[in-house]
Amino acid sequence: MKKVTPLLLVISVIIILVACDATKKMTAAVEVKRPNIVIIMTDDHAKNAMSLYNNALIQTPNMDRIGKEGITFKNAFVTNSICGPSRSVILTGKYSHINGFRDNGDRFDGSQWTFPKELQKHGYYTAMVGKWHLSTAPTGFDYWNILIDQGQYYNPDFVEMGDTARREGYSTNLITDIAMQTLDQRPKDKPFMMLLYHKAPHRNWMPDTTHLHLYNDKDLPIPFTFYDNYDNRKAAAAQDMEIKDMFLSSDMKLYLPEGAKDTGSGGSGPNSRYNPQRDWESLYGRMNPAQKKAWDDYYKPISDAFYRNNPQGKELEEWMYQRYIKDYLRCIAAVDDNVGRFLDYLERTGELDNTLIIYTSDQGFYLGEHGWYDKRFMYEESFSTPMVMRYPKKIKAGIINNNLVLNLDLASTILDIAGVPVPADVQGESLVPLFNKKNSKDWRKSIYYHYYEYPHGWHSVKRHLGVRTDRYKLIHFYHDINEWELYDLHKDPHEMNNIYNDPVNKEIITNLKQQLKDLVEKYKDTESVSLIK
Ligand code: CA
Repeated sequence: MKKVTPLLLVISVIIILVACDATKKMTAAVEVKRPNIVIIMTDDHAKNAMSLYNNALIQTPNMDRIGKEGITFKNAFVTNSICGPSRSVILTGKYSHINGFRDNGDRFDGSQWTFPKELQKHGYYTAMVGKWHLSTAPTGFDYWNILIDQGQYYNPDFVEMGDTARREGYSTNLITDIAMQTLDQRPKDKPFMMLLYHKAPHRNWMPDTTHLHLYNDKDLPIPFTFYDNYDNRKAAAAQDMEIKDMFLSSDMKLYLPEGAKDTGSGGSGPNSRYNPQRDWESLYGRMNPAQKKAWDDYYKPISDAFYRNNPQGKELEEWMYQRYIKDYLRCIAAVDDNVGRFLDYLERTGELDNTLIIYTSDQGFYLGEHGWYDKRFMYEESFSTPMVMRYPKKIKAGIINNNLVLNLDLASTILDIAGVPVPADVQGESLVPLFNKKNSKDWRKSIYYHYYEYPHGWHSVKRHLGVRTDRYKLIHFYHDINEWELYDLHKDPHEMNNIYNDPVNKEIITNLKQQLKDLVEKYKDTESVSLIK
């Protein structure tokens, strides 16, 4: 046996100590390298208003960059197409009937499990900046700074960890500024998770003064379903969300003649008491003199020309469409600029490639399709949502995925990327297995939808639930109506032709109802079982 000399022993100890130190350093390096996570979310951003999905309306190079350098989900949908419910689904990875936030009249139960809480527990620095809109104060965040309810476009009030203060500027810029300041001041020894939630482009679509002149020289194409007469679709006929009924003051930004009353609608139930002129006066009244001057210089001549020309009928409807769509897109343009600013910030601070960046909206929106604005319906424009992700360590650039994915899946995806186990009762699936795939065979074949905000909500959209597969969509409207609709999305992508009552589709309907029942059971929406007959 070899004898260990004191010198050898000393050398061995030194080697071991050096090795231990190196291991410690490596462990620390691995810790630091845990990915950051950012969700940039807008409010009411239709896929059609993002150039990666549709080139006809606007160029959004910065949002597109996330998808082009990562993955674009072409078939991303929401489970309940309205603001608060969508936000609750994202936080919990659970359907509305489980997380308890079914419609915008509800309050989010902040004591329940959310993915930010789970990340916080696992050593992440968590922050929430921008539009929260869940009635109760945020929980699970080390830092939060949020708008009050819908917030304001100009000089909005923010609540920072409970303290309210008004900030001078335009909301989309301010929210991005706060996000960057928050990251500057974060503890640098932890990975971060940030929810960067914009107010824009929510109604009443007030653009930044720097974007007012976009689209001055051209009109935008009118969707060919603009003059839809809702044949064979009773719920579609019963809604109150047509562009022709928009408010002339707050939506159209007209300067109503002295003593005139607004002629718009778009409210129902308790919202019929809504006073658009009073609301508009308060929003417009928040502007400082410079903002007001830029605003008046742009909108006053438009308003004067409107009252001079007095358009009627079709001419009026199309004028209103142009007013609406241009302001909507101008709000998106500011978001795109700010997505660019934020990506530049991450790049400058060396965090870009170590961050999973998700860009999405809380749901889609109607941009004149069926003559509408707003959301709620399970029809494609509001059921779908833009969803792109960038994380070069796991996602190859330029992947376009066609699987049916949901906002429900974000919580599981984020935990998966962070290396945190997903609790068994979370209902979404991790999208990580789809990251480098165009169309995975090993994925869900149908998705479930359920909307509740009737009769007490805005726009008179009946309660409904439904199922969508790659090809078909079956919807059941209930409560004070009992209607079924079936669409063949391959033949009728714009859902103008309800083929539910065509006997030739009997077998398809039986099959879809079975899938709907299976989903209701899978997601434990037990109170809805009896609705499917
Ligand atoms: Ca929304």
